[in-house]
Parts: sequence; structure tokens; C-alpha cells
Amino acid sequence: MNLNIPTKAVREALKKFPTPFHLYDEAQIRENARRFKKAFSILPGFKEFFAVKGLPNPYILKILKEEGFGTDCSSLPELILSEKVGIRGENIMFSSNDTPAKEYVKAKELGSIINLDDISHIEFLEKNAGLPDLISFRYNPGPARKGNVIIGDPKEAKYGLTRKQLIEAYKICKQKGVTRFGLHTMVVSNELKEEYFIETAKMLFELAVEINKEIGIKLEFVNLGGGIGIPYKPEERPVSYEKIAKGIQKLYQSLIEKNNLAPLKIFMECGRVITGPYGWLVTKVIHMKHTYKDYVGVDANMANLMRPAMYGAYHHITVLGKEDKKPIHVYDVTGSLCENNDKFAIDRKLPVIEIGDLMLIHNTGAHGHAMGFNYNGKLRSSEILLRENGSLQLIRRAETVEDYFATLDFNKLK
Ligand SMILES: *Cc1c(COP(=O)(O)O)cnc(C)c1O
Repeated sequence: MNLNIPTKAVREALKKFPTPFHLYDEAQIRENARRFKKAFSILPGFKEFFAVKGLPNPYILKILKEEGFGTDCSSLPELILSEKVGIRGENIMFSSNDTPAKEYVKAKELGSIINLDDISHIEFLEKNAGLPDLISFRYNPGPARKGNVIIGDPKEAKYGLTRKQLIEAYKICKQKGVTRFGLHTMVVSNELKEEYFIETAKMLFELAVEINKEIGIKLEFVNLGGGIGIPYKPEERPVSYEKIAKGIQKLYQSLIEKNNLAPLKIFMECGRVITGPYGWLVTKVIHMKHTYKDYVGVDANMANLMRPAMYGAYHHITVLGKEDKKPIHVYDVTGSLCENNDKFAIDRKLPVIEIGDLMLIHNTGAHGHAMGFNYNGKLRSSEILLRENGSLQLIRRAETVEDYFATLDFNKLK
């Protein structure tokens, strides 16, 4: 787990901004992005399209653009965010499902790579936006692959085309005059085993060979999806980018080069592993409660970080200034939402906690703030960026009660 906490900046931020807030570290995001890019640069035409849903903030997207990443979008606002930071054309991968027509119109207008989730979307896209020259399809291997806990079993997953549909879909597109083709899949999420990603590459490379044999199409790229996990627990280790890249490179030689299918570009659309470890939710203890259990009540709640409540996910907690104190007391750490699953930690051993203590909830740099919602009148927090020069920038202010009421017109009550 990333234990490199920018403690000084957190203390500085606490003087300037009310809790709770998410703080992201630009230097660590850039360093990781460079290591990621370098490791995978051994693969032909490699490109990473950052999954915007993980951290949809334009200041973060701008940093990643500067590091050479594109974006992976699946909604109209995500497309617009990309556009606002100057990411367009084939630097955008549009991987959506159950897609509304106007999203296809925008994706086409931006010249993005359109990745279709179903065979019926060929006609839908043609009717609503017209067919581009480059089309990609999302493959669902069904019983041929096992997913993992977060994403579930592929044959129960709503995503993608079956193998039979995939072949048919390429044929249809070819007949309709599409000239360039891609292939995509995403079968795991938050996965720490490198072999999974190598296996995914193997599956797609073999499919690329079969597609070429059956219909004479030479794919331009395969997109291995996202899903590289991060160590949420202190004892867990990060994946080795090099190990994944080298495993894929070997298969590229034996399957793609040997079958004269090179050049075939390799794409990925990771979110979590790019920014996840470099964000912290900073929150203050406002209540202590002792009933059948001992509760620590903080000023953040599941609207600021939903993963523990939604998946029972572990997020490590550091108590600022008590890093060296022994974790000798067992607590549930809760938020204020009227749902009993609004707990950041259950039966967690922590140092003895007092009202006013400041807690850092780790690994909130992806799928943290982004998953927020307003149920129970809860407001989303601010986002703060620790810049490389050590300054702190408010990159999203906290929501206010006025924001919450913005879609209501109280005047009509009279
Ligand atoms: C969520 C998602 C991603 C990113 O997943 P991470 O686990 O954040 O890497 C990539 N592609 C698609 C289609 C997704 O839905």
C-alpha cells in the first residue's frame, strides 16, 4: 500500500479548508503515470486511456494529458470534460453501454474511437450519428473466462457481444464500408494478479487471429480494458507493470507477429491504478459513542466515499499525529447517513481516539469522490490538489445547500 502520505501538505490544507476533503498529490500521480507509460512502452503503439469515471476532475485530466494519456469515457459529461481539457479525436475511447443517441452524436462529433457494446448498436449508431471509419467492439467471453468478485461472472455481465455476434458484427460493418477495426474487453476489476491481464491479452490476440482467418479483417488495436488493482491493505503489494508488459510482449511475438498481424496497437483504459493510491479523504472526529460497540463519528459519510458501504471494501485509516501510537482499541468508524452501512471501518483496531482527531482514509484517488451522491441531503466535499511546487489548489469546491436545491423552484409552493 502507498504509505507515502504528504503529511505537511495535509496539515497546511487543514488550516485553509474545512473538513472533509479529498486531497490528491500531483507529484505522485505524475511519477506513477511515467512508470506506467515506460513499462508498457515496450508494446507496439501502446496507449493508456484514463477511465474518467474514476476521478472526473478536469485538473487531473489535464495532468494525465500532459503525461500522454487519452481518456476513456462512457457518458456525455465525461466526453465534455475531455473536450474541455483539449482531449479529442482518437485520444478519446468511448466505451459505453445502453447508450443514449445523443452520446453517440457527441462521441462522433469529437472524432473519438467508438467501442460498441452490442451488435444492435451498429444500426443505432448509423441511424443517429452515422458510422465512423473506425469501429471497435466489446467482447464478453461468457463461460470462457472467470471474472472476479467486483465485476462478477462474465456470463452474468450485461456487457459486450458473444463470440458469434462479434464475428457477425465485424462482417456487417465491413459490408457497410467501415475500414478500420478494434477489439475490446474488460473482464476483471481491482485485480492484483498480473497473470489475469496476460491471459486477457492472450484471449484477444487469439481472437484477432481467428477474426483475420474467418473474415479477412486485420485489427488495428486491441484494448485490454482497465481493472488493474491497487493494494488497499498495508500488507498487499502493487502489481508489477513490467511483469504484465513483458508477458504481453511475449504473446505478441508468438501470436501476432507470427501470424503477420503486426502492427497491432495495444491499448488500456485503467482508472484506479493511475490515481487511486494518491488520494486521501481527510475527515475529523466529531463524536464518540459507546453503546454495544464503540463508535467514532466523523464529519465525512458514505456520500464522500462509498466503497466500504457498497462493497465492504477495506480502506486503511491513519490518525494524524498518532502514527506511532499502538492500535489497541477496536472501533466502528461511521458517517452521519441514516443507513447502518455508512461505516468507513468495522471492528478496526486504531489508536485511542478522541474528539477532534483527524483521520486520513487512504486510497481515495479513484472511485472515491466520483461515486458520491446526495441521498439523505448529504453534500459532496471539496477536492484539493497538492501541486508539484508544494502549493494547494482547490480543484472543486464543496457542495452547498444552494447546490442541493438548485433543481427546485420554491416559489411555486405559494
Ligand atoms: C470502470 C471501467 C474502467 C476502469 O476501471 P478501473 O478499475 O478503474 O481500472 C475501464 N473501462 C471500462 C469500460 C470501465 O467500465
